[in-house]
Parts: sequence; C-alpha cells; structure tokens
Amino acid sequence: MNVYNHHDPELLTRLASNFDVEPNLHPVSDAERENMIDKPAFGQVFSDSMVTMRWRDGSGWSDRQVKPFGSLNISPAAAVLHYAQEIFEGLKAYKRQDGSIWLFRPDANAERFQDSAQRLSLPNLSVEDFIGSVAALVRQDAQWVPSRREYTLYLRPFMYASEAFLGVRSPKQVDYCVIASPSGPYFTGGVKPVSIWVEDRWFRTGPGGTGYAKCGGNYAASLVAGNRGTDHDCEQVCFVDAASKTYLEELGGMNMFVVHRDGHIETPCLTGTILPGVTRRSLIELLNDRGLKVCEMMIRMDDLVNDIRSGDVTEIFACGTAAIVTPIKRLKSSNFDVTVATGEAGTLTMQLREQLLGIQLGEVDDSHNWMWRVM
Ligand SMILES: *Cc1c(COP(=O)(O)O)cnc(C)c1O
Repeated sequence: MNVYNHHDPELLTRLASNFDVEPNLHPVSDAERENMIDKPAFGQVFSDSMVTMRWRDGSGWSDRQVKPFGSLNISPAAAVLHYAQEIFEGLKAYKRQDGSIWLFRPDANAERFQDSAQRLSLPNLSVEDFIGSVAALVRQDAQWVPSRREYTLYLRPFMYASEAFLGVRSPKQVDYCVIASPSGPYFTGGVKPVSIWVEDRWFRTGPGGTGYAKCGGNYAASLVAGNRGTDHDCEQVCFVDAASKTYLEELGGMNMFVVHRDGHIETPCLTGTILPGVTRRSLIELLNDRGLKVCEMMIRMDDLVNDIRSGDVTEIFACGTAAIVTPIKRLKSSNFDVTVATGEAGTLTMQLREQLLGIQLGEVDDSHNWMWRVM
C-alpha cells in the first residue's frame, strides 16, 4: 500500500466506494450529537452508522454495507458465543483545524487484523477491505468526528464466527463489523502518572497461545488480574511471562517502555506472547529518529525493580492507541512496591506524547508518511 499517496483523499474514497450506503433515516439530532461529542461517554454511545460484511466458505466476502447502527441478529448457536472466535482492532479518526479527517497507520492495523485472523482460524480480510470499511464509516459519519484537541472518533472493527453450529472447527460463516464511538482525552485535567499492579498469579496468555493476536479471549483472561490490581489501588495491571514468571511483558492493553539514566531505552521484545502495538512500533521509530537506542529485549522483572530502586531507571511509560503515551509512577506486587524516580511524569515520556499527538493532528511534520487522509 505504501506506493500510494496517503494524502490524496481519492485513494480512500475509492476503497470506501465498494461499500453500499443505507443512510440512517433517524439520526441523532445535531444538538444531541454535539453534546455526545463534547462530553463523550467513551464506549457507551455510538455514531449513527455501522459497517457490516459477511464471509461464507466457498464464496468469500460479500454484502459490503454501511447501514444504521443497530442490534445484530445472531443465532444462540453462533460459534463465537461458545468458542470465542473473535478478533478486533482499535484506531481513531482525527479532525484537523481545516476540517480534513485523517487516520493513523490504518495499514498497520489491517495487517495485524490479518495476523489475528490467522491465529483464530478466521478468514483473511484484505487490507483494501479493512481500510475501505473504516473510511466508508468515517465518511458517512464525518459529523461525529470531533475537532477539539485530543477528541477523536474511536473506530472498532471486529470479526466473529456467526455460523450456527456447535461443532468445534474453523467456521463456515463469519461476520465483520465496524462501529464508532466518540472519545475524549484519556486523562481529563492533565496527564497523570498511573500505578501498576505486577501480577504473578494470573496470566493473559502463554507460549504458543494467542498473546500476539488482538482477540477478545485475551481480555477475558486478564480481568481477574485487573481486579486484583484494583484491590491494591492500581489503575492498571502488568503481566510477566507465564512460563518463568521472570520477564516483563505488557499491560492488559498497552505496551511498555523503560528509560535508563544513560539514555538507552528498553522495551520487551515480541516473543509471541506480547501484542505488537502500532504505537509501540511508531515510538521505536521516533526514538531512533532522535538518535536514541531502543533495545527490544527480555527484561528481567527483578533487574527492573533494582534499577528503579537505584535510580538507574528514570522513566517508565505505557503506550497504545487509546491513551497514546501514559507515564507510570509506581510498580507494586505481592513482594515489592517501588516508585519510579520522583513519581512525576518523565520528560521524554511527555515529549513523545506531544510529538505523536502532533503528528496525528497535523501539527508536527509527518516525516514517516503515517497519516492517511479520509476526506
Ligand atoms: C491493542 C493493544 C495494545 C496497543 O496496541 P496499539 O496498536 O498501539 O493500540 C497493547 N497491548 C494489548 C494487549 C492490546 O490489545
């Protein structure tokens, strides 16, 4: 896809045109929509439209539609309800001062969706269909994309086995949808460093499992650990590797970076149990642009705790589409409780956050050509 000029809205117009549009004849009123965008209840309110598409064994993908947002019609015997063949993606649409609307690296989400599909025995969806479906929904519901800084339209593509069959095998019918929810800043009232519970009892995945796939089951498996974190006054939970309980992996939905006093930066390497974040990948490139060395490696949890205690670790942050870059102030577990440096948000952490947000909003030079113009 990189041969295309991402800044040419004709490209996404063409991909979106494969989807038939049935407009919502009962859209939310202008006043109500403005209110929902202004005070977003993220994940609870959705735009007027949705995308659906169906795959059948033998005939492939068909019925590409943008239609009014509404309930799905699903058999109680649908395989996904029993065996959890479900994958998803998360990306955002950004509106700039001039009214243009953009996506950040949708090709990377499309490729990861293919990797997830393969792991869960779900059918392949082309990069063109993935980006086209997202663009079609954003074009139809363009008024739902907020223009205030750090306010976006969050897009949630997902795929599930809809075949009504209780046998355990690869499905013969699969549905794909995209829905959209207006979202505001992750931190209201300024970025606040978070406390992390390091979980040593429950794991979201393990060697040979589904850790690298963005599937609902990984989240289901992470909830008990998250609840334990909440019980210990931590906002997020961090997982270590299930096999040896020795190495740092990631948070329930964000990747992690560790900044050392000598300037080098470490992040857990992608061993198959970690989700390969688009934000993670992008930050590695931005750090390399700054001439900083990023070591993708196995990070021993006990080394990390010692290096935090000695002051050798100066910043830790988490990253993902939803919260962009989030400073981490404290790591807590059943056998340690350490504060990173002064507990304040780190300088590099905040610089990276502003740089990435700036690229997404068109305020900072997009030298990697990451932004795709929808309209
Ligand atoms: C989605 C996700 C991330 C972050 O990925 P981005 O592409 O940066 O949004 C990290 N970890 C997990 C487990 C995830 O599901």
